[in-house]
Amino acid sequence: MKFKPANNIQDLQYFGEFGGVNPSISDSSTYTFLSAKTMFDTFEGNTDGCYLYSRHSSPSNLYLGEALAAMEGTEAANVAGSGMGAITPTILQICGAGDHIVSSRTIYGGTYAFLKNFTPRMQIKTSFVDITKLDVVEAAINDNTKIIYCESVSNPLLEVADIIGLAALAKKYNLQLVVDNTFSPLSISPALLGADIVIHSLTKFINGSSDTMGGVVCGSTDFINSQKSVIDGASMLLGASMDSLRSSSILKNMRTLHIRMKQHSKNATFLAEKFEANGLKTVYPGLKSHPSHEIFKSMMNVEYGFGGMLTIDAGSLEKANALMELMQEKNLGYLAVSLGFYKTLFSAPGTSTSSEIPEDEQKEMGLTDGLIRFSIGLDDDIERTYQMMHACMKQVGVL
Ligand code: PLP
Repeated sequence: MKFKPANNIQDLQYFGEFGGVNPSISDSSTYTFLSAKTMFDTFEGNTDGCYLYSRHSSPSNLYLGEALAAMEGTEAANVAGSGMGAITPTILQICGAGDHIVSSRTIYGGTYAFLKNFTPRMQIKTSFVDITKLDVVEAAINDNTKIIYCESVSNPLLEVADIIGLAALAKKYNLQLVVDNTFSPLSISPALLGADIVIHSLTKFINGSSDTMGGVVCGSTDFINSQKSVIDGASMLLGASMDSLRSSSILKNMRTLHIRMKQHSKNATFLAEKFEANGLKTVYPGLKSHPSHEIFKSMMNVEYGFGGMLTIDAGSLEKANALMELMQEKNLGYLAVSLGFYKTLFSAPGTSTSSEIPEDEQKEMGLTDGLIRFSIGLDDDIERTYQMMHACMKQVGVL
């Protein structure tokens, strides 16, 4: 049967304490026990339905986790206070001193910096590879490798990972395939394609209103429980927990995710086709010219489209900056990092979200100075937006 992630979210039914149509928010950091014995058992992880302390879990966080697990088709999920708060404990839960990771070289700058600059302090090494080349990925695997790490659609270059191919490699070498699916919620369901662990920054499309940070790890019940263990769980012990007020607001926003993703995808497709026809170097997984267009197609849940992210090359950083400033002045969007807002957001990754990556490495991976990353908004009249963007491009000499 076809996997319907939005149905899975909508089919969940929670009532509030007084019959409310939304679950009550657990406005407490700690919880009482009727007996000391139950408290002891809960610390041992033995009592279902008892809450201990909100860094471990809270009813609101469990509701959101359940919705995200349903969306990704995993047994369980654990929410965190940010995307990095989901990524870092996942890596540290799996890897220790002497272990090795094979990672895509085009990933979010913060994840890259963590793997490149931080985990080596713990004797965890990472080989950064072109994730689109399965033979290169396989050649980088060694006896100490524990993880293959990638983004379904990479930040900022929009490279598409062949999750089925990578899952086969992970299986062959007994590794964990960890996929950050932040750029393609609903469109791609990595766990269904063989990923062991799926991560999101909820800060982006899933929450969709740029008013909070959040993250989630989706995986097997065993893995999620191991991360939450009071004895040695990286999520529990590193403490990047989400607050219940926030999880309850993200859960409410998630219920419109399918409508928003369709509109983001529709608008991004429209603009990408126009920009490409204008002769601009445009990267969008929905374009036939995208090197992994067919792979995306083979993996996608068709109704949600190719997502809201696209890039163009403005030719130089000066032109990119001039264009972004003018588009902001004309109220076409905001010169801001992040993604998944109702308004279009644009930034030049080389000097912002990927500035952690040294310049020579940026060049090697094809991250040019003039690259502008767009998170296309929910504009109702995308033709008007296009006409205005086109005029801006003419004015600053990008066209
Ligand atoms: N993963 C991707 C693909 C991202 O783009 C980002 C942030 O930009 C993150 C993870 C980190 O998420 P957060 O900023 O919520 O910590």
